[in-house]
Amino acid sequence: MKTYLNYINGTWMTSQSGELLDSIDPATGAFVAHTQSSTARDVELAVQTVSGAYTGSDWGSNSHRRASALLEWAAAIEVRKEELASLLTLENGKPIREARVEIAGAIDALRYCAGMARNVFGRTFQPAEDNFGFIMKEPIGIVAVITPWNWPVLLLFRDLAPCLAAGNGVIIKPAERTGAITAELLALLADIPEFPSGIAALITGLGTVVGNALVEHPAVDMICFTGSTAVGKALMQKAAAGVKKVALELGGKSPNLVFEDADLTRAIETSCRSLFMTSGQICMAGSRLLVHESVYETAVDIAKTFAESLRVGHGRLETTDMGPIISEKQLDNVLHYIEQGRREGRVITGGYRLRGAEYDNGLFIAPTILDNLSPSSCVVQEEIFGPVLVMEKFRTEEEAIRLANITPYGLSAGVWTKDVSRALRVARQVQAGTVWVNGYNKSYAEAESGGYKHSGIGRARGVEGLMEFTETKHVNISI
Ligand code: NAD
Repeated sequence: MKTYLNYINGTWMTSQSGELLDSIDPATGAFVAHTQSSTARDVELAVQTVSGAYTGSDWGSNSHRRASALLEWAAAIEVRKEELASLLTLENGKPIREARVEIAGAIDALRYCAGMARNVFGRTFQPAEDNFGFIMKEPIGIVAVITPWNWPVLLLFRDLAPCLAAGNGVIIKPAERTGAITAELLALLADIPEFPSGIAALITGLGTVVGNALVEHPAVDMICFTGSTAVGKALMQKAAAGVKKVALELGGKSPNLVFEDADLTRAIETSCRSLFMTSGQICMAGSRLLVHESVYETAVDIAKTFAESLRVGHGRLETTDMGPIISEKQLDNVLHYIEQGRREGRVITGGYRLRGAEYDNGLFIAPTILDNLSPSSCVVQEEIFGPVLVMEKFRTEEEAIRLANITPYGLSAGVWTKDVSRALRVARQVQAGTVWVNGYNKSYAEAESGGYKHSGIGRARGVEGLMEFTETKHVNISI
């Protein structure tokens, strides 16, 4: 059993609070590790030392150094990928197969951004015979990266890799429940000499304490936040006081739209898989399944059969399809939505906490499907963040689009049809940062992702994802 420390100024140190947080295996309730419950004074030290490393080194101006540092980190993670995946499963509960996907995604993000580090291009222009201008891209300075627990590795590297590639110093604040896996990944960076000592810091602790102190600190230039819409909104208000740049990757309530000409089995099974992955605790979960009325009842049968075939259990088993819910609080929250759905509509399958020897010490909910709900129901409108799929019926393309856009969220969507023209028409009108046609959850380091409406501000990944971490400067020369 390990106690993880904060990583500040190239050194592992305890928090000044002397207090610890617990990491717990949500499948068994067993203790996994301690992490530091840090304070605003720890944040102060981290900000000072990251600033010192940033101004005192060539990190911001030496793109070759940054590229090789990121490549070395990727290589170091690769060597320990299986061990890291096991810890991720233990701390978060997700199936080991999914944990491996996360680690591979982190490695891929580092490698992609290593190449990008040497491609932070601006542009030039000549507006008059006697004038020449250029637009430079510079690092922003000190960035705080605040992450959630649901995909704690991939989402960390989705932001961290471009942030470092662009030449910034960084302070990482992981979610309370996933500090151990984050510390193990930082320990691999600590051994790489290409990273200037102190350029990256890790502080674990409560969002309300550490996260808040980072948002309020005047020397933190940007907050890159992935988490709930409620916290994102509050954080944005606080950041406004310091006119601080924010990038927000927030919640979702994503629809899959299945038309009558779609490959029905593939469409329904993929949609269901996208929701039950990570027990529905995934921002891009296809949590709403909208199906044309002519194939609706068949779709219900396919979805029910799929949900009932999922093997729910401890994530370390290779056979597990769906693991536990992260915490008691989240479990109660999900069960509350299920009860609301039962009162207002129909439970097609599931709808209860799993009990029995295998489940009693953990936090498991049966894969659940609901329907017959009003579009205004909170079960349809709000992010449940659990294994609860809502099925809805539509009659026309127009109605499908209207229903798809009916929630405050706009993170992602799926369109299922063999008609290319319809696919493009619908993709254009659905308000979402990512629209998949005849597929779902295909994310790439080179493809921007992010939210419309209450799902966020700014873009992660791709060229725009890198540029989020840069300032733009116009330098003008009179000739
Ligand atoms: P959360 O908002 O509770 O916490 C996210 C992070 O913010 C944690 O590190 C937490 O400690 C910190 N935090 C909490 N209060 C804070 C405060 N007042 N100031 C600063 N930081 C604070 O979210 P969560 O429960 O960890 O994650 C689930 C949510 O994240 C869901 O809504 C999900 O949709 C969203 N999410 C979005 C994406 C995306 O890419 N859009 C990806 C994953 C998760």
